[in-house]
Amino acid sequence: MPEPTAHPTVVYSADLVVPMTAPPIADGAVAVRGGRIVHVGTRAWVLDLLREERADAAERHLDGVLTPGLVNAHTHLQYTSMAAVGAGRYAGFDDWATAFSAVYDRGGLDWGGAAAEGARALLAAGVTVAADIVTDEAAVSALADAGLHGIAYWEVMNWSNAAWRRGGRDRVIAELERVPTTPGSGLSPHAPYSLDAEPLLDIPDIVRAHGGRLHIHLGESHFEGARAGATDRHAPDWHFAGVESFRALRESGYGASATEFVDRLGVLGPDCHVAHGVYMTAEDRALLRARGTSVALCPRSNEVIGLEAPPVAAYLTEGSPIAVGTDSLSSSPSLDPMADVAALARIAREQGYAGRDLHERLLSAATFGGARAMGIDIGPDRLGHLAVGAIADLTGFPMPVGPVADALADLVESAPEQRVAVVSGEVRSGTLEEVG
Ligand SMILES: [Zn+2]
Repeated sequence: MPEPTAHPTVVYSADLVVPMTAPPIADGAVAVRGGRIVHVGTRAWVLDLLREERADAAERHLDGVLTPGLVNAHTHLQYTSMAAVGAGRYAGFDDWATAFSAVYDRGGLDWGGAAAEGARALLAAGVTVAADIVTDEAAVSALADAGLHGIAYWEVMNWSNAAWRRGGRDRVIAELERVPTTPGSGLSPHAPYSLDAEPLLDIPDIVRAHGGRLHIHLGESHFEGARAGATDRHAPDWHFAGVESFRALRESGYGASATEFVDRLGVLGPDCHVAHGVYMTAEDRALLRARGTSVALCPRSNEVIGLEAPPVAAYLTEGSPIAVGTDSLSSSPSLDPMADVAALARIAREQGYAGRDLHERLLSAATFGGARAMGIDIGPDRLGHLAVGAIADLTGFPMPVGPVADALADLVESAPEQRVAVVSGEVRSGTLEEVG
């Protein structure tokens, strides 16, 4: 790891600084001290302030764009060693799951080593924050070990109501206790179809009592979409019909979507974000908005698995809170969320989105939106935007910079592969030019 300069204050300057919660700043700078942002503004103004303060400051310059640290809002770092599965093309979720399980169930993989390799790949892509779903205990401290920010979500799946009552609940509570709370911890009830109703009802209470966060795969399988023509899907009484699971609900003829199902069980809320959100009706999307639940879109993973594209134009038009995730290498070519951002821009246009704010909003989704999805955009350790007092996580993109709108378009449509990652004020990957 390169040593930061010995000066107590470091000024990171660039041709363009994009704070996300303030307008972009041409010839901008971010002053950092003690891992926190102390000033954000034009380079000349920031340097003047530091001279007035008689601060001992060093400057590091980037010919390019500085943004808040990229947020990968949905990944599974421990599957970094399963890239052979992700290199395939599948005919839908079940087809992909079969290929995945063939490798996973064979066993013998080093989950801890793979997760550490995934964390290095995140840094190389300029990612400083991740929502990491952990299925095997060897991988549970990957974010903490790499000094990255975000949340490790312990995955909970394949519990029937009976097994849950017989000890599943206690086991998951004990497992959650073992997830490091630095940088953050939570539970990921895998999906509406892989858990019966009782665990789906209990898990949110367990994690909320613990002060953690929730993250669930939702609307990833075609099976989860609302089924028209089934028994009145607005029937208010299905919740009280004693259904054991989402599958049982469907088998008894109700057409409610998986989103409606988990909502009735109390899973959604401002402390929960969902991954994928592909098979979502307008009503499902309205439910997410009403509950304050963000959706992490993972379009490249959807394509590998053979799903439809996520309804990103609708999410943008309706004002839904969105974030961007890569998913794992078992269904995606890389852990770089900017590649998904480029895919989302293309998909949004194909779906008819014509707003001039497309680039800025997608860049926001990959930074501020991701932090917001995990609830870490506010509070003393806030991330995802460049503002005074926030943790100094930055991503640098070395690139030629013209007018602001063009630079944002270039960044979103074709971000340079080379990246700089600054985590808590320290350069962790890439290089910056020392000035003076
Ligand atoms: Zn996933």
